[in-house]
Amino acid sequence: MPLILPDVFQQEIVMLKMPIDRNFQKTWKKSGQHRDHAIWQSETSQLGIHGTRVAVDFDECTGCLKCITVCPEDVFEQWEDESGQIKADPVRETACLDCLACELVCPEDAICIIQASTKSDTLSALLD
Ligand code: ZN
Repeated sequence: MPLILPDVFQQEIVMLKMPIDRNFQKTWKKSGQHRDHAIWQSETSQLGIHGTRVAVDFDECTGCLKCITVCPEDVFEQWEDESGQIKADPVRETACLDCLACELVCPEDAICIIQASTKSDTLSALLD
């Protein structure tokens, strides 16, 4: 007999492995502000996504802080929530140069850079 997991378990497994939702600006809602950046929430998020131009999914970030090490512009700052969890907070997202080093180095795919160049505008216009 093959092992068949109830749907609930399978959904949880999928959610745990989810990289950041790159369409969060369209499908998530701004729920508030943290320092100088927005916090976005979806129906299933808990901590949500911090930042808009440089977005970090706090539910996926494990606080390895590799992004802080590689970022040439010090966009990220270590942040600790009330429960003692460490997160990389995009406190200076406007300084981002689109080098994408943080995206590449993040082991959880928790970071999404919304590029400032017109390229992404063209792309989203094509997709719309
Ligand atoms: Zn934040």
